[in-house]
Amino acid sequence: MNRGALEQLRKAVGADHVVSDPHDLVIFERDASITGALPDAIVFPADTAEVSKVLRIAAAHGLPVVPRGAGTGLSGGAVTIRHGIALSLARMHRILEIDAGNRTATVEPGVVNLDLSQAAARQGLFYAPDPSSQKACTIGGNAAENSGGPHCLYYGVTSNHVLGMEVVLADGSVHRVGGDNPDRPGLDLLGVLVGSEGTMAVITKIQVKLLPLPEAVTTLMAAFPTIETASHAVSDVIAHGIVPAALEMMDHATVGAVEAHYRAGYPTDAGAVLLVEVDGLTESAQELMDQVRRLLESNEAFSCRVAADAAERELLWAGRKGAIGALGRIKPNYYLHDGVVPRTRLPEVLRQVGEVAGRYRLPVANVFHAGDGNLHPNILFDLRETGVMDRVEKAGEEMLRACIDAGGTLSGEHGIGLEKNAFMPWIFGPDDLDAMQRVKDVFDPGGSLNPGKVFPDAERKEARLLARSGVASEAQWW
Ligand SMILES: Cc1cc2nc3c(=O)[nH]c(=O)nc-3n(C[C@H](O)[C@H](O)[C@H](O)COP(=O)(O)OP(=O)(O)OC[C@H]3O[C@@H](n4cnc5c(N)ncnc54)[C@H](O)[C@@H]3O)c2cc1C
Repeated sequence: MNRGALEQLRKAVGADHVVSDPHDLVIFERDASITGALPDAIVFPADTAEVSKVLRIAAAHGLPVVPRGAGTGLSGGAVTIRHGIALSLARMHRILEIDAGNRTATVEPGVVNLDLSQAAARQGLFYAPDPSSQKACTIGGNAAENSGGPHCLYYGVTSNHVLGMEVVLADGSVHRVGGDNPDRPGLDLLGVLVGSEGTMAVITKIQVKLLPLPEAVTTLMAAFPTIETASHAVSDVIAHGIVPAALEMMDHATVGAVEAHYRAGYPTDAGAVLLVEVDGLTESAQELMDQVRRLLESNEAFSCRVAADAAERELLWAGRKGAIGALGRIKPNYYLHDGVVPRTRLPEVLRQVGEVAGRYRLPVANVFHAGDGNLHPNILFDLRETGVMDRVEKAGEEMLRACIDAGGTLSGEHGIGLEKNAFMPWIFGPDDLDAMQRVKDVFDPGGSLNPGKVFPDAERKEARLLARSGVASEAQWW
């Protein structure tokens, strides 16, 4: 980045809020995926006006801009592969309003998901989308990724909860999309921008729906002899017209790691464990849970246990939500995939996932939102092992291919980012991709917002990801 651009950025947001020292840049080199590249500068605006100024400067100097929340993304979305500006929204972290009467909240993009839920709970409300990363990830990142979470099976993913947004386009202009009115006339631009992964606009304010806290919540843990029997149980529950608030699965490997860390009481001899939650009025929740339990037991469930109180419930969830971290007990690195399959094909695809892992001599742990067929095979490896990345990437690709061949799709919630843009032609024809590109061009004609993501990237020489560890080297990307 030239000195003039850097000076202008410092003037726009304050010298303390621009980081360009090569040592400090390394902190922003990665997200939670397996890829990384250094930005030229990290810029921390304080408000919408400063975001607008930064984008105008970037446009004038032809600099790429990659918006960044907490960097917990799993598909490389926040990685600055073309360098330029990493635009961190971390300083914009105010909850601007909780309107209990209208059950809405208006927040800045850097608000952490769990902070919003905790603030809403003080008024008897909650924000439903709860990614397992909710202690760290931001509402801006959630809106950009259209994130899901354990409770999205019943309540719906982020797009079902965002009412309106303020956004800044690549030319620095500020716009408002959506709003309070439930039946908005005109084109649904909000629908276009939620889930656009930072490629079309920078989100600077978000208005979301809040829901009343349910009167009763009941959580059940059930063990199964195999992952197949657990998968059949999931299909059976849904086939009986029951949609629990959450229906999560952990396989044997995950249960072992989680139990060693959290001591949540998961049976380590289980082939798989399901965590089921239902909520609502006290009596109906109890009745529904009894029905679920009978169905699970008719599918070989054993050691069924309903959490006796809020503390036990929280412990069970801590294990599930902390599962990815706990897997560090098995191997130091992970590559977490995010495919979707029709629920009835779960057992077959999980078997294929196991076969692929075996063929590439890689341990795999499955922890996922089973209720909506969203698979998360987590390939565990040690980056220090020579040549391991090649096996990891090939295995990951084959697992995703198995999902597509079973009638599924490339991502349930983690987005396409950098990780899966080369695979977009598996599910979209050239005309579809061209139509999507033309929509992006309307919002970002110069292509400066998060370039090289989502759309297949003609400039990337290798179709495969080039994952690595340590300090970024340009040569590894191009
Ligand atoms: C342990 C773990 C568990 C997870 N569990 C889940 C889960 O259950 N469900 C789920 O869906 N995901 C999950 N994730 C993935 C991740 O947490 C989500 O994708 C999350 O929404 C990312 O938020 P973030 O603030 O970290 O965004 P980042 O990673 O910083 O960015 C993600 C993308 O959003 C864009 N972006 C960020 N902020 C803005 C903004 N203000 N304007 C425009 N674009 C923006 C970035 O450019 C990037 O493309 C998990 C991740 C981890 C590490």
